[in-house]
Amino acid sequence: MEEKDSKTMISVKHLSKKFGDVTVLKDINLDIKEKEVVVIIGPSGSGKSTILRCLNHLETPSGGEIVIDGIKLEEGANLNAIRREVGMVFQRFNLFPNMTVLQNIMLAPMQVRGKSKEEAKEKAMRLLKRVGLEHKADAMPDELSGGQQQRVAIARALAMNPKALLFDEPTSALDPEMVKEVLDVMKSLAKEGMTMVVVTHEMGFAKEVGDRVMFVDGGLIVEEATPEEFFSHPKNKRTQDFLSKIL
Ligand code: ADP
Ligand code: MG
Repeated sequence: MEEKDSKTMISVKHLSKKFGDVTVLKDINLDIKEKEVVVIIGPSGSGKSTILRCLNHLETPSGGEIVIDGIKLEEGANLNAIRREVGMVFQRFNLFPNMTVLQNIMLAPMQVRGKSKEEAKEKAMRLLKRVGLEHKADAMPDELSGGQQQRVAIARALAMNPKALLFDEPTSALDPEMVKEVLDVMKSLAKEGMTMVVVTHEMGFAKEVGDRVMFVDGGLIVEEATPEEFFSHPKNKRTQDFLSKIL
């Protein structure tokens, strides 16, 4: 495993989130270093998506503090700035259906970053090449397979030069034969030093690519360890139960 920088990219202290009377996140504490790959696993409904959504402020936290690359995430002025810095890849690829692949990738750099069309296109083509889809630049999303759409979604997120990328079960909606092509792109990003938080059920990915694995249950991180330790010696009873069901 390559040497990771010691700079903190994402810091979360005492994050809580309620929906109405229901407390979904209780007390989440995270410290993610630059270039680190953190894998979050846990049962359905445990709060994994809500954690990611709070990190790029698709949800407003009920309490606690989130700091991204030294910038405190608060209501108001810097919210959009933060959203620009943290990219997100969803389970359902969420490409704009009425735009070509190329237009999907060019849109935010032009609209949000004020890039010229030429610059945005040049970068989009570079990113499409990186995910192996330069030949699909002029295709519409519905002409692509699920795996291809997800790779475009990753290219689109990268087009904003994010400081970190969040993945919410990026392969869960894919047919099995398409999972690998998406995981391979994610692996190469990890190798290149992208800071990543990945919610996934792909335990092979967690073992191979993760620097740390966190197990979330009931709105709390109940266990956190290196993949080696996590999978060979889970300490928490709930982690043991969960792993015994899925491994
Ligand atoms: P996971 O991603 O681990 O499956 P989620 O973070 O999606 O879990 O959801 C955690 C809990 O929060 C679930 O009980 C879910 O029903 C609830 N929840 C999520 N989003 C909302 C919302 N917008 N309104 C009300 N409840 C929500
Ligand atoms: Mg989820």
